[in-house]
Amino acid sequence: MKTIEDFNFENKKALIRVDFNVPLDGEFNVTDTSRIEAATPTILKVLEDGGSAVLMSHLGRPKGQVNPDMSLSHICEKVSEIVGVQVKFVDECVGDKVEQAVAELQSGEVLLLENLRFHAEEEKGDEAFAELLSKNGDVYVNDAFGTAHRAHASTTIVAKFFPDNKCFGYLLAKEIKAIEKVMQTGEKPVTAILGGAKVSSKITIIENILDKVDNLIIGGGMTYTFIKAQGGQVGDSICEDDKMELALDILKQAEAKGVKIHIPVDVLAADDFDNNANTQFVDVNKIPDGWQGLDAGPQSLENFKKVISESRTILWNGPVGVFEMENFAKGTIAIGNYIDEATQNGAFSLVGGGDSVAAVKQFGFQDKVSYVSTGGGAMLESLEGRTLPGIAAILG
Ligand code: AMP
Repeated sequence: MKTIEDFNFENKKALIRVDFNVPLDGEFNVTDTSRIEAATPTILKVLEDGGSAVLMSHLGRPKGQVNPDMSLSHICEKVSEIVGVQVKFVDECVGDKVEQAVAELQSGEVLLLENLRFHAEEEKGDEAFAELLSKNGDVYVNDAFGTAHRAHASTTIVAKFFPDNKCFGYLLAKEIKAIEKVMQTGEKPVTAILGGAKVSSKITIIENILDKVDNLIIGGGMTYTFIKAQGGQVGDSICEDDKMELALDILKQAEAKGVKIHIPVDVLAADDFDNNANTQFVDVNKIPDGWQGLDAGPQSLENFKKVISESRTILWNGPVGVFEMENFAKGTIAIGNYIDEATQNGAFSLVGGGDSVAAVKQFGFQDKVSYVSTGGGAMLESLEGRTLPGIAAILG
């Protein structure tokens, strides 16, 4: 795997695909700078070697149209502040103007190009557009994990114009290593905790990880499809009746593969999908009509705690309750605390995929786990066992 560490950028121009798709407020201030911070080590390595950096990214969904609200010019000052270098900006990402700005770029300088998605060719993965992009640097560095699952011009296709001069940036390399550590080289026992709303959205992940884990904790809304499939009463809990057979099949597959499945035995049930609803702890198999399970119960959490504390490698994707409502967030917070303890005791813990990162950040767990993935969709696809096109393009 070629990473940025394998290159010396002295007098070279690095064309870096970063993920600067950051949230902006009404006055175009960056409200969360994590993605800029995450890309900074890669940019600094190029500058410290004596090279220059040309940064390309998308921002929002302009759908192939120029949209001043989504111009990357809005973030230029913030990038300058974080990287510590006054970043230059050019209001295009291909063409003569850009080629000239790139030609004038001196060692130690950084140039930010305009939003790639102002061109429809970007998302189409257009080869001619990718070739134009490739003129903006000597070495192609992909450091955008958040878009690595898309075969876009700047994330994938452009790599073919750098057959010997392409590599992963630090961030993307870290993401790949973290996933490998869980899916391939993880110390046993390996435990996956899968929560979230629906079995249907997690099924490919479950099937893929059954070959890799020793324990699978299933929580959140998925619980009830498994419980009902086994004959339990789930009341008004979220349940996918058409996935019950699949749930039974997963249980069978797990047994055949020697994977222990852990499902809640008790839940906090509510008489409405509302933070202020009446609540009671009930046996997961005996949820009365009119009540729905919205969080894991105390006995379930005790069971999960034991499994997590004995694990050496932990993957967490999805909340075990409706964490957005304070009264149903306790289970998810408890899981975070158990992972924190296990991590302090030497386990490797990876959190990511979909909304997991939002839950982790909301409760301040991002510094307590070993690694928080920066890519929602890209992480989910990696867990499903797919080779991401952006990664394959660098490896190939
Ligand atoms: P996902 O994006 O699939 O990880 O799902 C996350 C969503 O699952 C969150 O918005 C949670 O509120 C929701 N969720 C978790 N547990 C439950 C539950 N018991 N009933 C309904 N929704 C749930």
